[in-house]
Amino acid sequence: MKNEKSSKIYEEAIEYIPGGVNSPVRAFKSVGLDPIFIDRAHGSRIYDVDGNEYIDYICSWGPLMLGHSPKEIVEGIEEVVSRGTSYGVPTAIEVEMAKIIVEAYPAIDQVRMVNSGTEATMSALRVARGFTKRNKILKFEGCYHGHSDALLVKSGSGTITYGVPTSPGVPSDVVKDTLVCRYNDLDAVREIFKTQGHEIAAVIVETVAGNMGVVPGKQEFLQLLRDITKEYGSVLIFDEVITGFRLNYSSSVGYFGIKPDMVCFGKIIGAGLPVGAYGGTKEIMSMVSPVGPVYQAGTLSGNPLAMYMGKKNLEILRDNPQIYKELEEKAIRLEEGLKSNIEKLGLNYTVNRAGSLVCLFFTHGPIENYDDVTRCDVSKFNKYFEELLKRGILLAPTQFEAMFLSNAHTNEDIDYTINASYEALKIAHNL
Ligand code: PMP
Repeated sequence: MKNEKSSKIYEEAIEYIPGGVNSPVRAFKSVGLDPIFIDRAHGSRIYDVDGNEYIDYICSWGPLMLGHSPKEIVEGIEEVVSRGTSYGVPTAIEVEMAKIIVEAYPAIDQVRMVNSGTEATMSALRVARGFTKRNKILKFEGCYHGHSDALLVKSGSGTITYGVPTSPGVPSDVVKDTLVCRYNDLDAVREIFKTQGHEIAAVIVETVAGNMGVVPGKQEFLQLLRDITKEYGSVLIFDEVITGFRLNYSSSVGYFGIKPDMVCFGKIIGAGLPVGAYGGTKEIMSMVSPVGPVYQAGTLSGNPLAMYMGKKNLEILRDNPQIYKELEEKAIRLEEGLKSNIEKLGLNYTVNRAGSLVCLFFTHGPIENYDDVTRCDVSKFNKYFEELLKRGILLAPTQFEAMFLSNAHTNEDIDYTINASYEALKIAHNL
């Protein structure tokens, strides 16, 4: 594998950008390697500046359901650019986009565009707090909701823990109202509501935790969140930055049959352009400025380029339900191939899958929460990652992320991946 050009760019990158990257995990630091720098991508393939070709399972961390740069989404974008790239004054396409999202998501009446998942969750919490006039929020260990201060919290080892700042720079005062429970732990939720339920403004949850590998929320866990928030007058927020429009066209509502009060979307609705959105019932969303008193704004929100690509992407997903069926079939093919590999090699590892999200955990199952995930043999994963990279397969450079499938991945891509995975597992375990 050639890497002279990537290495050269990286040398300069670390001079000018912290760690040489604009988001930490891109550094490949967790797998002990230097990053590759990308030149271009098309379909299921991504190419680095040294000319190496990879089957891409990062897919921009989720949004590229139809693969890189699909013709039917990108064509016409030059014409949009030629009419102006941002106005700061409303456009009709923002309304069309809002309508598509509201019609797709059975739990909400209104939606507000933002520019990232972080903005979506941060804003939704502000609205939920304004709506309930309460301060406390409940999140779950191992769930990531972006890097805003109040959400950048993980719990200690206990079941119910007061938040501690994950990062220096987050004042403890800011996170004192962030409560953390173990994911999928029904008793922990009951307990925390028993003691503090009337002070909890919102519960925010990833219905399938996609930031500690792939850990599906149990049906009874999500149902409990629905019931208990209703009972105590708290707002239930589904963070669907990863699951939205991926599990199903109606997202987690369709997949689990449970309706939250609010939802957050991110990259997935922009097909690769920077975007996010939060929505809720009319009653809740009428808190948002300029109708209500909760302030939230954004110069580039509803940007015409993002709206153009996002809208086309969602229309394709809406009008072609077989995409979901095909994606799931491919994911099952991958899941079964990975399971068969670990069985053949006598490894006691686990494959979790939800829709088109797949993760091979380097530990025994079941994997239901963050404690389970932390059992993984990360050093073996790192070797596995490197061996796959050498074989032209790009995974997220950490054990704790999903493999994102797109409809551009072919059965041949998947079969090649399964075979390469067998070889890489063998080498990683000296078998
Ligand atoms: N919520 C979830 C569930 C996410 O996975 C992410 C990022 N992957 C975010 C929020 C934050 O989104 P962004 O990186 O666009 O700010």
